[in-house]
Amino acid sequence: MDSDQVKFVSIVVPVYNESGCLDELISRVLTTMRQTGRKFEFILVDDGSADGSREMISKAAEENPEIVGCLLNRNYGQHSAITAGFAQVRGDLVITLDADLQNPPEEIPNLIAAAEQGNDVVGTVRQNRQDTLFRRMASKVVNYFARKATGVHMNDYGCMLRAYRRFVVDAMMQCNERSTFLPVLGNSFARRTCEIPVKHAERAVGDSKYSFWKLINLQFNLLTCMTTAPLRMTTWFGIFSAFCGFLLSLYIVIRRFAFADGDTWGNFGSFMLFAVMFVFMGIQMVGIGIIGEYIGRIYTDVRARPRYFVEKIVKKSGEDN
Ligand code: UDP
Ligand code: MG
Repeated sequence: MDSDQVKFVSIVVPVYNESGCLDELISRVLTTMRQTGRKFEFILVDDGSADGSREMISKAAEENPEIVGCLLNRNYGQHSAITAGFAQVRGDLVITLDADLQNPPEEIPNLIAAAEQGNDVVGTVRQNRQDTLFRRMASKVVNYFARKATGVHMNDYGCMLRAYRRFVVDAMMQCNERSTFLPVLGNSFARRTCEIPVKHAERAVGDSKYSFWKLINLQFNLLTCMTTAPLRMTTWFGIFSAFCGFLLSLYIVIRRFAFADGDTWGNFGSFMLFAVMFVFMGIQMVGIGIIGEYIGRIYTDVRARPRYFVEKIVKKSGEDN
């Protein structure tokens, strides 16, 4: 099919304090893309780095016509940085990837090929993933819920090496919510998706830019951005626990009056009741917490502050098409 032909590829990479691997990333992406012989642009989004990455991006953008530097004024997080990059894309296929070289740039041609087979979104599955156990466990939970909620079966939502057709990106840009998880959002606009296996390397330089709390925040974003099911679950749980409580009280009353052994029950039972109460109190707190998460997000969405602020776009002068 002719319409599936990819003519112009946009590559978007968020960068946060990655000066150690930036040079290698740039040269590997440029080499790979030049080999494909396709028209491309390479958008590096600086997410408020403070280690010289910013200057390196500016320099690379001034030297290479394909590179666009998009400098944010401070750190807004990976997904906001990618969104800032999405606002700049001109290509008809958009590929995202991490700056730390855990996703080998050499896999890009495979993604392009998969997209040309008529897929709107191409996901990837990391083969023998090189991350810490904690990071992998967190991903397992996330992937499970993402699969359930979006109904799109993907094995690895966390891998950011992905390709999106331009219309999917445009649709994502029209979404106003602030706490997004892009792979899930993208899938909700895709008609056909596929997943291809890719290699995964260990982080060569520097540490993961996700602290424990950033990671927790990401998981909550993921949960609330795609579904309101947890709210309904708490309702059902409330109904269920109320019903159990009713049965229990019925049981106690019958024992008290029919068998007149209320004292023995009272001796043991009061502690039992406390135990049961604590369980349900806990469930209530969790329920309130979940509701709070949604309300918090409604609050930030209502304020509608910009998700990022682009301070400067660096491009080689004269290059504009
Ligand atoms: N990143 C970013 N802003 C942040 C955190 C991360 O732009 O606040 C970028 C980072 O530079 C990298 C990508 O997001 O290109 C993934 O980050 P990292 O490799 O630290 O995450 P992990 O591999 O641990 O999921
Ligand atoms: Mg990484």
